[in-house]
Amino acid sequence: MMLTLNMSNHSAIQNLGTVTNRILVVEDEDSIRELLVLGLEEEGFEVVALADGHTALTQCQAQTPQTQDFPFDLIILDLMLPKVSGLDLCRFLRYQGNHVPILIVSAKITETDRVLGLEVGADDYLSKPFSMRELVARCRALLRRNRLNIAADTPTIQFQDITLYSEEYRVLVRGVETNLSPREFRLLELFMQYPRRVWDREQLLDRVWGIDFIGDRKTVDVHIRWLREKLEIDPSQPQYITTVRGFGYRFG
Ligand code: CA
Repeated sequence: MMLTLNMSNHSAIQNLGTVTNRILVVEDEDSIRELLVLGLEEEGFEVVALADGHTALTQCQAQTPQTQDFPFDLIILDLMLPKVSGLDLCRFLRYQGNHVPILIVSAKITETDRVLGLEVGADDYLSKPFSMRELVARCRALLRRNRLNIAADTPTIQFQDITLYSEEYRVLVRGVETNLSPREFRLLELFMQYPRRVWDREQLLDRVWGIDFIGDRKTVDVHIRWLREKLEIDPSQPQYITTVRGFGYRFG
C-alpha cells in the first residue's frame, strides 16, 4: 500500500491529524535557513524562506492586512536581519492589524531583547542554538492556539447571501436553512474563511479530508458539485465556487 503513495500523501501520513500550514522563514544565515526549511518540510509544512527583512516586508505589504487573507499561517523570524530588522517587521505587521503567529528565533539572549520582542507583538521566543524538535513543537503550539482563536473570533461567517454558523453547524443560503454533509460544511467553511483564495485539490484534501483519506482527488470534484447544487442558483453557471482551470477552485 505504502509503495503506491506519492510524496505528498506520504508527508500527509507522517503528519497525523494536522493540516498543511504555510510558514514564512526570515533568516539571513544560510545554514540556519536551510536547516529550518529542511526540518519544517520534513514535518509536512509548506515553507517560504527569505534572507532579509526588506524582502519579507515587501511580501507582507503586498497583502491585505486581514489575517485571513494573509498567505502564511506562521512566521519564524530572526531578529538581526539585513535592511529591516525582525523587530521592525514584527512591529509593522501588528500595526497593520495582522495577528499571524510570530516565533522569534534569535542569538540575542538578553532579557531585554526577549521582553522587547514580546512587546512588539511576537508570540514566542526561541534562542539559538535551538533543537529542531523544540522549534517544531513551538510552531505546532502557536498554530493550534491561533486556530482556536480564529474559530472563537468568527463563529459566524457571511459572504454575500450565504451565512455560516461555525459553532451551530448551520448554513443559510438566501435566508433558507440548507443541510450540508460534514464534509460539505467543512469545505464551505474553509472557502468562506479565505475568500478569493485559489485552492488545488491536494490542498483541499489535506484541509478538509485530512490524512485518514487516501484516495482519488476526484472526491473533491464530486463534493464541489454537491456543494454547488446546494449553494448556486444555477449550478451549471456557478457564481460562488468557480473552477480555476488547470489549478483548482476559488470561492467568491
Ligand atoms: Ca541574523
